[in-house]
Amino acid sequence: MVKFLLLCYNFFMKNAFYKFNLQLTDEQINKFNRYYELLVEYNERFNLTAIVDKNEVIIKHFVDSLLGAKFFNKGKLIDIGSGAGFPAIPLKIFNDNLEVTLVEATGKKCTFLEAVIKELDLKNIKVVNDRAEILGKNENFREQFDYCSARAVARLNTLAEYCMPFVKVGGYFIPYKGDVVEELADGKRAVKILGGKIEKVEEFSLEEAKRSIVLVKKIEKTLNIYPRGNGKERKKPL
Ligand code: SAM
Repeated sequence: MVKFLLLCYNFFMKNAFYKFNLQLTDEQINKFNRYYELLVEYNERFNLTAIVDKNEVIIKHFVDSLLGAKFFNKGKLIDIGSGAGFPAIPLKIFNDNLEVTLVEATGKKCTFLEAVIKELDLKNIKVVNDRAEILGKNENFREQFDYCSARAVARLNTLAEYCMPFVKVGGYFIPYKGDVVEELADGKRAVKILGGKIEKVEEFSLEEAKRSIVLVKKIEKTLNIYPRGNGKERKKPL
């Protein structure tokens, strides 16, 4: 009976992903189910997400995080402003070849991220409780990553200054956005100053919502004056 219920529980999740052309193994489905349980369990104390309905979490957090999965191959990924882990934890569950660093400014969110890593038995993934604009000056992190992702953290021009310093020349900054059109002109200018070039903007519709993923290639090193710090990235964006 327990086995039957577990099968139904997993079938529901598997089917939800399948509708978006995402085929997951039973092991991956088990991890997503456990991730959902932890999210709901910690949410009361840690205020992690406004979305708790299971179907909504699957679509708006899990599937949304995986919309960009095809852009990440083997390599080192740093995720800025991870919050409850989106998009990097779903990307790691989906593609175990990624070596992941989660950067989050709020300590209690980091406690949650550590709990998820332990419970899901994820390897080659760590959490850094710091601000991007401080960590971006640290030579152990600066220009060390193949990919830098971020979702729902800041406008594209501000976000580029947080993220571009982490990316190696030849690597990619991959912001997850809603409708990005209005941010693109400012964003393009900031990206260029920071040594990057927007290669493409891929648009998706997720039920009623318009989603965009921007592919920014790093073509030259970022000048050492960036990120400027002291809140300038937000107050006076490039
Ligand atoms: N990326 C997650 C998501 O899509 O659900 C979380 C989004 S939440 C709206 C933004 C998160 O970014 C917060 O957890 C906040 O603490 C973190 N954050 C904002 N600015 C940051 C910075 N400069 N460095 C590190 N984390 C930052």
